[in-house]
Amino acid sequence: MTSSEGRRKRALVIGCGIAGPVVALYLKKAGFDPVVHERRAADAADDGGSFNLAPNGLSVLRTLGLADKVVAIGQATERTEFLNHRGRRLALLSESTVLLHRGELHRLLVAEVEAQGIPTTFGHEVTEVETTDDGVRVRFGDGTEDHGDLLVGADGIRSRVRHAVVKGLPQPRYTEMIDSGGVGYLPGLKADGTMRMTFGLKGFFGYQVLPDGHVFWFQNYHQADEPSRHRLRGIPNAVWREHLMEMHQGDRSPIVDIIASTDEIDRYLLFDAPTLSRWHTDRIVLLGDAAHAMGPHTGQGASMALEDAIVLARSLRDATSIPAAFADYERVRRPRVDHVIEQTRHNGNSKAAPGPIGRVVRDLVLPVFLKAGVKKGAALYTHRIPW
Ligand SMILES: Cc1cc2nc3c(=O)[nH]c(=O)nc-3n(C[C@H](O)[C@H](O)[C@H](O)COP(=O)(O)OP(=O)(O)OC[C@H]3O[C@@H](n4cnc5c(N)ncnc54)[C@H](O)[C@@H]3O)c2cc1C
Repeated sequence: MTSSEGRRKRALVIGCGIAGPVVALYLKKAGFDPVVHERRAADAADDGGSFNLAPNGLSVLRTLGLADKVVAIGQATERTEFLNHRGRRLALLSESTVLLHRGELHRLLVAEVEAQGIPTTFGHEVTEVETTDDGVRVRFGDGTEDHGDLLVGADGIRSRVRHAVVKGLPQPRYTEMIDSGGVGYLPGLKADGTMRMTFGLKGFFGYQVLPDGHVFWFQNYHQADEPSRHRLRGIPNAVWREHLMEMHQGDRSPIVDIIASTDEIDRYLLFDAPTLSRWHTDRIVLLGDAAHAMGPHTGQGASMALEDAIVLARSLRDATSIPAAFADYERVRRPRVDHVIEQTRHNGNSKAAPGPIGRVVRDLVLPVFLKAGVKKGAALYTHRIPW
């Protein structure tokens, strides 16, 4: 698809998280001229800890020749085991995923975008988006502007671009869950490529021992009242550590020891984004968390963002007009994303800690649900999108 003067169409990509750089790489492959604008400074400190990338997401990177590089900077999670608070196995997911440090993945993707000659600016926060007669204009916090034939909003759960697609949207909703995570150090534990997830008495705890004795972990617990993000982050590490250790006192070892061995503990409030009536206008389109943030409970948010990226670029490559491409992209992606969101909410609800009687019921019922969930999870993993 070229402009009436025969030049390649200019695509503004807002956000250089996970979806942004990957859609830029695919857009270039599809014959567009992408340019990426990111709010973060180029040398900003890493934020966001680690996460697991599922095989369906990894396969999107494989088509770009990036899968081996990504695997090389991560750790294989060969299986995921679900346990009750006493350590009894409730279910086993024997599919392999990759545990990645978010900052390292960002650096790899940015290096690839730059190596492909795609212009990328940092410290450029989009504050306004406006459709013009011949395209889209964005304005940045520093007063500068840019103009393109189309605009891709890959700017995450608190997307600014989203408001140019659907007016009057509510803010993302707090899901009454707090996530904590960190990297401890317990050299006595054996690294066996297993992510162990425990339904504890008061919270949900996942960990994987790494070959060098470090232990990646995360924790979720239910809290109805929404604390301010500022207040949550201001709580000293020692106080937060004690709080989590106390919560897991009655759970199987080595959960408390892992928390005790961790210096810095990240904390996040978990949010659900509002369901959008549409993901695009004639010139502007959303993908990844900007279109459908879903929380971490199926480990599919990043993979959905990557799947969006390849489908969007493929639709733009094949369609006769930008609006037709955007409509095709949304038609293909919506059913799959809706299905994953439903599963994510279901998994999130099962993490809430019940009382003593509820716990007995949960231990009886959960293996059945988990086994069904594991089957559904494995089915999500096998999805492949041809270029
Ligand atoms: C605690 C937690 C754990 C998770 N664990 C997993 C997991 O294990 N597996 C998994 O698959 N998913 C996980 N997820 C979900 C996953 O992180 C997201 O789905 C994924 O990051 C979405 O990618 P994205 O590119 O759409 O958005 P993001 O990664 O959020 O990137 C958005 C980018 O846009 C930039 N930006 C924002 N606003 C502007 C603006 N106005 N102008 C310019 N730039 C802007 C941001 O700085 C950022 O770089 C987890 C999420 C959370 C919160």
